[in-house]
Amino acid sequence: MSLAPAPPRAVPFHVPHTAERQDDYLRQVLASGDLDGNGPYSARATEILARITGSPHVLLTPSCTHALEIAALLLELAPGDEVVMPSFTFAPTASAVAMRGAVPVFVDCHPDTLNMDESLLEAALTERTRAIVAVHYAGVACEMREIQRIADAYGVPVIEDNAHGLGATYQGRPLGGFGTLSAQSFHATKNVHCGKGGALLVNDPELVERATIIRDRGTDRHQYFLGQVDKYRWVDLGSSYILPEVLAALLAAQLEEFDAVQKRRHALWDTYHSGLAGWAADERVALPTVPADREHSAHLYHLVLPSEEDRTALLQHLAERDVRASVHFLPLHTSPAGLRYGRSAPGGCPVSERIADRLVRLPLHTELSDAQAGRVVEALASFRTGTTAGAERATDREDRS
Ligand SMILES: *Cc1c(COP(=O)(O)O)cnc(C)c1O
Repeated sequence: MSLAPAPPRAVPFHVPHTAERQDDYLRQVLASGDLDGNGPYSARATEILARITGSPHVLLTPSCTHALEIAALLLELAPGDEVVMPSFTFAPTASAVAMRGAVPVFVDCHPDTLNMDESLLEAALTERTRAIVAVHYAGVACEMREIQRIADAYGVPVIEDNAHGLGATYQGRPLGGFGTLSAQSFHATKNVHCGKGGALLVNDPELVERATIIRDRGTDRHQYFLGQVDKYRWVDLGSSYILPEVLAALLAAQLEEFDAVQKRRHALWDTYHSGLAGWAADERVALPTVPADREHSAHLYHLVLPSEEDRTALLQHLAERDVRASVHFLPLHTSPAGLRYGRSAPGGCPVSERIADRLVRLPLHTELSDAQAGRVVEALASFRTGTTAGAERATDREDRS
Protein backbone atom coordinates (compact mmCIF):
# COMPACT_ATOMS: atom_id res chain seq x y z
CA MET A 1 0.00 0.00 0.00
CA SER A 2 1.48 3.36 -0.96
CA LEU A 3 0.53 6.69 0.44
CA ALA A 4 -0.79 9.27 -2.00
CA PRO A 5 1.64 12.18 -2.28
CA ALA A 6 0.65 15.19 -0.18
CA PRO A 7 -0.98 17.87 -2.34
CA PRO A 8 1.37 20.80 -2.89
CA ARG A 9 0.79 23.67 -0.50
CA ALA A 10 -0.76 26.85 -1.81
CA VAL A 11 1.74 29.47 -2.96
CA PRO A 12 1.15 32.36 -0.53
CA PHE A 13 0.90 35.86 -1.96
CA HIS A 14 3.01 37.43 0.75
CA VAL A 15 4.97 36.31 3.80
CA PRO A 16 6.77 39.05 5.77
CA HIS A 17 10.54 38.57 5.85
CA THR A 18 12.04 37.03 9.00
CA ALA A 19 15.53 38.23 9.92
CA GLU A 20 17.88 35.85 11.67
CA ARG A 21 18.77 38.13 14.56
CA GLN A 22 15.37 39.72 15.14
CA ASP A 23 14.40 37.50 18.10
CA ASP A 24 17.74 38.24 19.81
CA TYR A 25 17.40 41.96 19.26
CA LEU A 26 13.83 41.97 20.55
CA ARG A 27 14.87 40.10 23.69
CA GLN A 28 17.76 42.50 24.23
CA VAL A 29 15.68 45.64 23.82
CA LEU A 30 13.00 44.36 26.19
CA ALA A 31 15.63 43.43 28.78
CA SER A 32 17.27 46.86 28.45
CA GLY A 33 14.15 48.73 29.58
CA ASP A 34 15.07 51.41 27.03
CA LEU A 35 11.80 51.32 25.11
CA ASP A 36 11.12 54.94 24.27
CA GLY A 37 12.72 55.26 20.82
CA ASN A 38 15.87 57.02 19.60
CA GLY A 39 17.91 54.27 21.33
CA PRO A 40 20.79 52.16 20.00
CA TYR A 41 18.67 50.07 17.59
CA SER A 42 17.14 53.24 16.16
CA ALA A 43 20.66 54.56 15.66
CA ARG A 44 21.66 51.35 13.91
CA ALA A 45 18.61 51.35 11.58
CA THR A 46 19.10 55.05 10.85
CA GLU A 47 22.74 54.52 9.94
CA ILE A 48 21.95 51.67 7.51
CA LEU A 49 19.16 53.70 5.90
CA ALA A 50 21.47 56.68 5.45
CA ARG A 51 23.95 54.39 3.74
CA ILE A 52 21.36 52.83 1.38
CA THR A 53 19.68 56.11 0.41
CA GLY A 54 22.60 58.52 0.64
CA SER A 55 20.30 60.74 2.67
CA PRO A 56 22.12 62.57 5.49
CA HIS A 57 19.15 62.99 7.86
CA VAL A 58 16.94 59.98 8.52
CA LEU A 59 14.13 60.16 11.08
CA LEU A 60 12.40 56.86 11.90
CA THR A 61 8.61 57.14 12.17
CA PRO A 62 5.76 54.75 13.03
CA SER A 63 4.85 54.47 9.30
CA CYS A 64 5.29 55.98 5.85
CA THR A 65 1.89 57.60 6.38
CA HIS A 66 3.24 59.45 9.42
CA ALA A 67 6.34 60.51 7.47
CA LEU A 68 4.07 62.00 4.80
CA GLU A 69 2.10 63.82 7.51
CA ILE A 70 5.32 65.35 8.87
CA ALA A 71 6.22 66.39 5.32
CA ALA A 72 2.83 68.11 4.97
CA LEU A 73 3.46 70.02 8.23
CA LEU A 74 7.00 70.98 7.14
CA LEU A 75 5.65 72.35 3.86
CA GLU A 76 3.16 74.43 5.87
CA LEU A 77 0.34 73.33 3.62
CA ALA A 78 -2.81 75.36 4.18
CA PRO A 79 -6.39 75.32 2.88
CA GLY A 80 -6.47 76.16 -0.83
CA ASP A 81 -2.91 74.98 -1.48
CA GLU A 82 -2.48 72.24 -4.08
CA VAL A 83 -0.14 69.26 -4.23
CA VAL A 84 0.33 67.42 -7.51
CA MET A 85 0.62 63.63 -7.35
CA PRO A 86 -0.30 60.50 -9.31
CA SER A 87 -3.80 59.05 -9.02
CA PHE A 88 -2.31 55.55 -9.12
CA THR A 89 -0.96 55.45 -5.55
CA PHE A 90 -1.99 54.51 -2.03
CA ALA A 91 -4.42 56.66 -0.02
CA PRO A 92 -1.90 58.21 2.47
CA THR A 93 -0.03 60.03 -0.32
CA ALA A 94 -3.16 62.15 -0.72
CA SER A 95 -4.61 61.93 2.77
CA ALA A 96 -1.56 63.56 4.39
CA VAL A 97 -2.12 66.58 2.13
CA ALA A 98 -5.89 66.70 2.58
CA MET A 99 -5.47 66.58 6.38
CA ARG A 100 -3.84 70.04 6.15
CA GLY A 101 -6.79 71.30 4.09
CA ALA A 102 -4.75 71.27 0.87
CA VAL A 103 -6.05 69.77 -2.38
CA PRO A 104 -4.43 66.71 -3.97
CA VAL A 105 -4.34 67.20 -7.76
CA PHE A 106 -4.24 63.83 -9.53
CA VAL A 107 -2.13 63.22 -12.63
CA ASP A 108 -2.39 60.20 -14.92
CA CYS A 109 0.34 57.57 -15.28
CA HIS A 110 2.48 56.08 -18.03
CA PRO A 111 0.93 52.83 -19.32
CA ASP A 112 4.31 51.03 -19.09
CA THR A 113 6.05 52.07 -15.83
CA LEU A 114 2.71 53.07 -14.21
CA ASN A 115 4.52 56.12 -12.80
CA MET A 116 3.16 59.67 -13.01
CA ASP A 117 3.36 60.90 -16.62
CA GLU A 118 5.70 63.91 -16.41
CA SER A 119 4.46 65.22 -19.76
CA LEU A 120 1.13 65.97 -18.02
CA LEU A 121 2.73 67.74 -15.10
CA GLU A 122 2.89 71.32 -16.32
CA ALA A 123 -0.85 71.35 -17.17
CA ALA A 124 -1.53 70.28 -13.54
CA LEU A 125 0.45 73.13 -11.96
CA THR A 126 -1.24 76.36 -10.87
CA GLU A 127 -0.13 79.34 -8.81
CA ARG A 128 -1.47 77.43 -5.79
CA THR A 129 0.80 74.39 -6.30
CA ARG A 130 3.05 73.89 -3.26
CA ALA A 131 4.72 70.54 -4.05
CA ILE A 132 4.95 67.64 -6.47
CA VAL A 133 4.90 64.10 -5.05
CA ALA A 134 6.77 61.44 -7.02
CA VAL A 135 5.69 57.86 -6.21
CA HIS A 136 8.10 55.26 -7.58
CA TYR A 137 5.64 52.51 -8.41
CA ALA A 138 7.02 48.99 -7.86
CA GLY A 139 10.35 50.62 -7.01
CA VAL A 140 10.94 51.74 -10.62
CA ALA A 141 12.04 55.36 -10.50
CA CYS A 142 9.92 58.15 -11.93
CA GLU A 143 11.50 60.32 -14.63
CA MET A 144 13.22 62.38 -11.94
CA ARG A 145 15.32 64.63 -14.16
CA GLU A 146 12.25 66.01 -15.95
CA ILE A 147 10.14 66.19 -12.77
CA GLN A 148 12.90 68.10 -10.99
CA ARG A 149 13.34 70.42 -13.99
CA ILE A 150 9.63 71.33 -13.92
CA ALA A 151 9.61 71.67 -10.12
CA ASP A 152 12.62 74.02 -10.28
CA ALA A 153 11.04 76.08 -13.05
CA TYR A 154 7.93 76.58 -10.88
CA GLY A 155 9.86 76.91 -7.62
CA VAL A 156 8.14 74.04 -5.80
CA PRO A 157 9.77 71.14 -3.92
CA VAL A 158 9.60 67.50 -4.96
CA ILE A 159 8.56 64.99 -2.29
CA GLU A 160 9.27 61.30 -2.86
CA ASP A 161 6.81 58.67 -1.66
CA ASN A 162 9.49 56.00 -1.76
CA ALA A 163 7.45 53.29 0.00
CA HIS A 164 8.34 50.84 -2.80
CA GLY A 165 11.76 52.04 -3.81
CA LEU A 166 14.33 51.38 -1.09
CA GLY A 167 17.51 50.18 -2.81
CA ALA A 168 16.47 51.34 -6.29
CA THR A 169 18.39 53.91 -8.34
CA TYR A 170 17.83 56.51 -11.06
CA GLN A 171 20.86 57.29 -13.25
CA GLY A 172 23.05 55.67 -10.60
CA ARG A 173 21.69 57.64 -7.63
CA PRO A 174 19.59 55.97 -4.89
CA LEU A 175 15.91 56.83 -4.62
CA GLY A 176 14.97 58.66 -1.46
CA GLY A 177 17.84 61.09 -2.03
CA PHE A 178 16.09 63.13 -4.73
CA GLY A 179 13.19 64.77 -2.91
CA THR A 180 13.47 67.70 -0.53
CA LEU A 181 11.71 65.17 1.73
CA SER A 182 11.22 61.44 1.14
CA ALA A 183 9.00 58.91 2.90
CA GLN A 184 9.91 55.24 3.39
CA SER A 185 7.67 52.39 4.57
CA PHE A 186 8.55 49.39 6.72
CA HIS A 187 5.07 47.95 6.74
CA ALA A 188 4.97 44.13 6.80
CA THR A 189 4.11 44.09 3.08
CA LYS A 190 7.34 45.87 2.09
CA ASN A 191 10.76 44.29 1.29
CA VAL A 192 12.07 44.82 4.83
CA HIS A 193 9.79 45.75 7.67
CA CYS A 194 9.07 46.03 11.39
CA GLY A 195 5.36 45.19 11.17
CA LYS A 196 4.53 48.85 10.88
CA GLY A 197 7.19 51.52 10.54
CA GLY A 198 8.61 54.20 8.31
CA ALA A 199 11.14 56.96 7.92
CA LEU A 200 11.30 60.55 6.79
CA LEU A 201 14.45 61.43 4.85
CA VAL A 202 15.20 65.13 5.22
CA ASN A 203 17.41 66.16 2.32
CA ASP A 204 17.17 69.91 2.93
CA PRO A 205 19.34 70.64 6.02
CA GLU A 206 17.21 73.72 6.80
CA LEU A 207 14.23 71.49 7.59
CA VAL A 208 16.01 69.08 9.93
CA GLU A 209 15.51 70.91 13.23
CA ARG A 210 11.83 71.57 12.65
CA ALA A 211 11.29 67.96 11.47
CA THR A 212 12.84 66.76 14.75
CA ILE A 213 10.47 69.01 16.73
CA ILE A 214 7.35 67.95 14.80
CA ARG A 215 8.29 64.28 15.30
CA ASP A 216 8.66 64.83 19.06
CA ARG A 217 5.13 66.15 19.82
CA GLY A 218 6.03 69.70 18.83
CA THR A 219 8.62 69.99 21.61
CA ASP A 220 12.32 70.84 21.58
CA ARG A 221 13.12 67.78 23.71
CA HIS A 222 15.83 66.69 21.26
CA GLN A 223 17.62 70.05 21.67
CA TYR A 224 17.27 69.63 25.45
CA PHE A 225 19.02 66.25 25.36
CA LEU A 226 21.78 67.80 23.26
CA GLY A 227 22.21 70.46 25.97
CA GLN A 228 21.14 73.26 23.62
CA VAL A 229 18.21 74.40 25.79
CA ASP A 230 17.78 74.03 29.56
CA LYS A 231 14.09 73.02 29.57
CA TYR A 232 12.06 71.51 26.82
CA ARG A 233 8.87 73.21 25.80
CA TRP A 234 6.00 73.07 23.35
CA VAL A 235 7.32 75.13 20.43
CA ASP A 236 5.43 74.02 17.31
CA LEU A 237 2.73 71.75 15.91
CA GLY A 238 3.66 68.10 16.14
CA SER A 239 2.62 64.67 17.18
CA SER A 240 3.99 61.44 18.64
CA TYR A 241 5.87 60.41 15.49
CA ILE A 242 8.91 58.56 16.93
CA LEU A 243 9.30 54.83 16.21
CA PRO A 244 9.32 52.82 19.48
CA GLU A 245 12.64 51.10 20.19
CA VAL A 246 11.07 47.61 20.12
CA LEU A 247 10.12 48.13 16.49
CA ALA A 248 13.48 49.77 15.75
CA ALA A 249 15.17 46.58 17.02
CA LEU A 250 13.12 44.50 14.58
CA LEU A 251 13.88 46.99 11.81
CA ALA A 252 17.63 47.01 12.53
CA ALA A 253 17.75 43.19 12.27
CA GLN A 254 15.89 43.37 8.95
CA LEU A 255 17.99 46.18 7.49
CA GLU A 256 21.19 44.31 8.36
CA GLU A 257 19.98 41.64 5.91
CA PHE A 258 18.85 44.11 3.27
CA ASP A 259 21.43 43.07 0.66
CA ALA A 260 20.52 39.38 0.97
CA VAL A 261 16.78 40.18 0.86
CA GLN A 262 17.25 42.21 -2.30
CA LYS A 263 19.40 39.53 -3.93
CA ARG A 264 16.72 36.91 -3.33
CA ARG A 265 13.87 39.13 -4.48
CA HIS A 266 15.75 40.09 -7.65
CA ALA A 267 16.40 36.41 -8.43
CA LEU A 268 12.66 35.66 -8.15
CA TRP A 269 11.74 38.76 -10.16
CA ASP A 270 14.18 37.66 -12.89
CA THR A 271 12.70 34.13 -12.85
CA TYR A 272 9.27 35.60 -13.57
CA HIS A 273 10.56 38.05 -16.15
CA SER A 274 12.42 35.51 -18.28
CA GLY A 275 9.97 32.66 -17.65
CA LEU A 276 6.94 34.72 -18.71
CA ALA A 277 8.36 36.66 -21.69
CA GLY A 278 7.17 34.29 -24.44
CA TRP A 279 3.75 33.69 -22.90
CA ALA A 280 3.20 37.41 -22.29
CA ALA A 281 4.05 38.30 -25.90
CA ASP A 282 1.64 35.61 -27.20
CA GLU A 283 -1.17 36.66 -24.88
CA ARG A 284 -0.64 40.44 -25.16
CA VAL A 285 0.07 40.69 -21.44
CA ALA A 286 2.32 43.58 -20.38
CA LEU A 287 5.19 42.72 -18.04
CA PRO A 288 6.94 45.40 -15.94
CA THR A 289 9.02 47.97 -17.82
CA VAL A 290 12.30 49.14 -16.31
CA PRO A 291 13.98 51.93 -18.34
CA ALA A 292 17.71 51.38 -18.95
CA ASP A 293 18.86 54.23 -16.69
CA ARG A 294 17.15 52.75 -13.59
CA GLU A 295 17.65 49.81 -11.22
CA HIS A 296 14.42 48.71 -9.62
CA SER A 297 13.91 47.42 -6.06
CA ALA A 298 12.16 44.10 -6.87
CA HIS A 299 9.30 45.28 -4.67
CA LEU A 300 6.57 43.70 -6.75
CA TYR A 301 5.99 41.82 -9.98
CA HIS A 302 2.92 42.82 -11.94
CA LEU A 303 1.10 41.83 -15.11
CA VAL A 304 -1.32 44.05 -17.02
CA LEU A 305 -3.94 41.97 -18.83
CA PRO A 306 -5.59 43.04 -22.11
CA SER A 307 -9.01 43.42 -20.42
CA GLU A 308 -10.73 43.43 -17.05
CA GLU A 309 -12.45 40.14 -18.02
CA ASP A 310 -9.04 38.60 -18.62
CA ARG A 311 -7.92 39.78 -15.18
CA THR A 312 -10.95 38.22 -13.51
CA ALA A 313 -10.41 34.96 -15.40
CA LEU A 314 -6.69 34.90 -14.59
CA LEU A 315 -7.26 35.37 -10.85
CA GLN A 316 -9.74 32.47 -11.01
CA HIS A 317 -7.28 30.35 -13.02
CA LEU A 318 -4.50 30.95 -10.49
CA ALA A 319 -6.79 30.33 -7.50
CA GLU A 320 -7.75 26.95 -8.97
CA ARG A 321 -4.03 26.11 -9.08
CA ASP A 322 -3.49 27.26 -5.49
CA VAL A 323 -1.49 30.32 -6.49
CA ARG A 324 -2.46 33.39 -4.51
CA ALA A 325 -2.28 36.56 -6.59
CA SER A 326 -3.64 40.03 -5.92
CA VAL A 327 -4.83 43.27 -7.46
CA HIS A 328 -3.44 46.68 -6.49
CA PHE A 329 -4.25 50.39 -6.11
CA LEU A 330 -7.66 51.77 -7.00
CA PRO A 331 -7.16 55.19 -8.59
CA LEU A 332 -7.55 57.98 -6.04
CA HIS A 333 -9.31 60.45 -8.36
CA THR A 334 -12.44 58.24 -8.49
CA SER A 335 -12.30 57.08 -4.84
CA PRO A 336 -14.86 58.60 -2.43
CA ALA A 337 -12.32 60.75 -0.55
CA GLY A 338 -10.47 61.62 -3.76
CA LEU A 339 -13.70 63.06 -5.15
CA ARG A 340 -14.36 64.94 -1.90
CA TYR A 341 -10.89 66.36 -1.20
CA GLY A 342 -9.05 66.28 -4.53
CA ARG A 343 -9.44 66.88 -8.21
CA SER A 344 -8.05 65.49 -11.45
CA ALA A 345 -5.57 67.41 -13.54
CA PRO A 346 -6.84 68.51 -16.99
CA GLY A 347 -7.50 65.45 -19.16
CA GLY A 348 -8.38 63.20 -16.21
CA CYS A 349 -6.63 59.89 -15.50
CA PRO A 350 -7.93 57.36 -18.08
CA VAL A 351 -4.74 55.27 -18.06
CA SER A 352 -4.87 54.87 -14.26
CA GLU A 353 -8.48 53.68 -14.51
CA ARG A 354 -7.66 51.16 -17.23
CA ILE A 355 -4.53 49.83 -15.49
CA ALA A 356 -6.21 49.44 -12.09
CA ASP A 357 -8.86 47.16 -13.64
CA ARG A 358 -6.33 44.94 -15.39
CA LEU A 359 -3.35 44.62 -13.06
CA VAL A 360 -2.38 41.43 -11.22
CA ARG A 361 0.49 41.10 -8.73
CA LEU A 362 2.29 37.78 -8.37
CA PRO A 363 3.71 36.31 -5.14
CA LEU A 364 7.15 37.83 -4.42
CA HIS A 365 8.77 37.38 -1.02
CA THR A 366 11.80 35.79 0.61
CA GLU A 367 9.86 32.69 1.71
CA LEU A 368 9.03 31.85 -1.91
CA SER A 369 11.06 28.86 -3.12
CA ASP A 370 12.39 28.37 -6.65
CA ALA A 371 9.94 25.49 -7.02
CA GLN A 372 7.02 27.72 -6.03
CA ALA A 373 8.11 30.45 -8.45
CA GLY A 374 8.27 27.73 -11.09
CA ARG A 375 4.71 26.70 -10.21
CA VAL A 376 3.54 30.30 -10.68
CA VAL A 377 5.16 30.49 -14.13
CA GLU A 378 3.68 27.12 -15.09
CA ALA A 379 0.21 28.13 -13.93
CA LEU A 380 0.39 31.28 -16.03
CA ALA A 381 1.71 29.44 -19.09
CA SER A 382 -1.54 27.46 -19.30
CA PHE A 383 -3.72 30.59 -19.27
CA ARG A 384 -5.11 32.07 -22.48
CA THR A 385 -6.42 35.62 -22.68
CA GLY A 386 -9.50 36.57 -24.70
CA THR A 387 -11.40 33.35 -23.95
CA THR A 388 -13.28 34.49 -20.93
CA ALA A 389 -16.91 34.81 -22.04
CA GLY A 390 -19.11 33.72 -19.16
CA ALA A 391 -16.23 33.21 -16.75
CA GLU A 392 -17.33 33.45 -13.15
CA ARG A 393 -16.20 36.50 -11.34
CA ALA A 394 -13.23 35.72 -9.11
CA THR A 395 -13.16 37.43 -5.76
CA ASP A 396 -10.54 40.12 -5.98
CA ARG A 397 -8.37 40.08 -2.89
CA GLU A 398 -8.20 43.46 -1.29
CA ASP A 399 -4.58 43.90 -0.38
CA ARG A 400 -3.77 47.42 -1.36
CA SER A 401 -0.83 48.41 0.75
C1 LIG B 1 2.68 51.07 1.66
C2 LIG B 1 2.54 52.42 1.06
C3 LIG B 1 2.36 53.57 1.83
C4 LIG B 1 2.04 53.53 3.29
O1 LIG B 1 2.95 52.92 4.06
P1 LIG B 1 2.64 52.73 5.64
O2 LIG B 1 4.02 52.52 6.19
O3 LIG B 1 1.78 51.52 5.73
O4 LIG B 1 2.01 53.95 6.15
C5 LIG B 1 2.38 54.81 1.22
N1 LIG B 1 2.53 54.93 -0.10
C6 LIG B 1 2.67 53.85 -0.89
C7 LIG B 1 2.87 54.06 -2.36
C8 LIG B 1 2.65 52.56 -0.35
O5 LIG B 1 2.73 51.49 -1.14
